[in-house]
Amino acid sequence: MTAEIVSVGTELLLGDTVDTNAAALGRVFAASGLAHYHRQTVGDNPTRLREALELAFARSDLVVTIGGLGPTSDDITREVVAQTLGLELIEDSGILERLKAMFRSRGRAWVETNAKQAQRPAEAAILDNPNGTAPGLYIPVGDKVAILMPGPPSEFLPMLENEVAPILARLGSGQVIASRVLRLVGIGESQVEADLGDLMDGSNPSLAPYAKTWEVHLRLTAHADTRSGALALIAPLEAEVRERLGEHIYGVDDEELEDVVVDLLTRRNETLAVAESCTGGGLGERLTRVSGSGEAFLGGVISYANTAKINLLGVVPEDLAEYGAVSEQVAREMARGARERLHATYGIGITGVAGPGGGTAEKPVGLVWIGVSGPEGTHAVEHRFGGQRQTVRARSQTAALTMLWRVLRG
Ligand code: AMP
Ligand code: MG
Repeated sequence: MTAEIVSVGTELLLGDTVDTNAAALGRVFAASGLAHYHRQTVGDNPTRLREALELAFARSDLVVTIGGLGPTSDDITREVVAQTLGLELIEDSGILERLKAMFRSRGRAWVETNAKQAQRPAEAAILDNPNGTAPGLYIPVGDKVAILMPGPPSEFLPMLENEVAPILARLGSGQVIASRVLRLVGIGESQVEADLGDLMDGSNPSLAPYAKTWEVHLRLTAHADTRSGALALIAPLEAEVRERLGEHIYGVDDEELEDVVVDLLTRRNETLAVAESCTGGGLGERLTRVSGSGEAFLGGVISYANTAKINLLGVVPEDLAEYGAVSEQVAREMARGARERLHATYGIGITGVAGPGGGTAEKPVGLVWIGVSGPEGTHAVEHRFGGQRQTVRARSQTAALTMLWRVLRG
């Protein structure tokens, strides 16, 4: 069975909103074994929406629309789908009652334009929307199916999981697609290609690399009658990848580097403090994203000015004068200062030139020194990152986490 998405909303075309809903739905299509060859995005315009729908129904068995179910005049999806399919809209008294009750319970006055959200074709089934006003609709028409879903992700995603995914699983081929993501640091995409190129020609299982900010992710995908069957196809490929590049693999699927570092620290009963200059607290922010990180992450110092490096971390003024703030010595002293002053097992110090200004021939934009201090001593590594200011800052954080991850992994 072929499936197609029609995303409706001028804001999507203008680039104000990224179509995250379609991405989530595409993943569910894949997991359900539905063939997904086309996706359209169209503005809030009845003529063009009708054209998009006619094209979609001509070539696909299942068409899912996203957005345009609300009460305002630019919400036209329900009407245009009905027109395109030659179906009449009726008012559903159950939906209407529920809408009015919702307004009452929130103390809001009923506005009559809301009544259009209670309309549906007679043959439609209702898809519950406990997080908003407009319900979704499931409309069988001959051997085709239309599914209409609301745009706000807070409504769309729960409806996808609870109402639509079970329907798609039933409509799909029965083949289940499973994938696993291996996450690598400390290696570039071209090196990964060079090392794994011969494994990338397969189709079941398949292997594809994705370059991220200072990371590479490898997606291993397979299809089979069951999820466990698909995973069994992936397992030997994963073993081969681990054999070749295992030293760079820090995690799988959704695991972030900070998750892995916090987990390692916690299991070793050890703690971390950070001293950040060019990252301005970004590393601390990443570490505190991890729920439960408080056991392992003690805190940090944002030491942007030299005076802060001296007064809060004990960086030696003479070293700042002699070597400069972006130097091996200062990175080491920052790492040691964070470790000692916060009484942590490990300290990290980051100092660099994030740009776009401030670079010199000797210390260009992108030069970052990162120090790690621990029970076995203190070391620092020089990085020369490409990219703009925010990229340099993000890469610095990942590189710092990578350095500590290597120490902790042993
Ligand atoms: P609508 O259902 O068209 O009234 O959309 C309501 C809100 O949901 C809009 O403000 C959009 O920003 C958001 N939205 C609509 N469609 C999408 C989509 N495909 N992905 C993510 N957000 C969306
Ligand atoms: Mg809209």
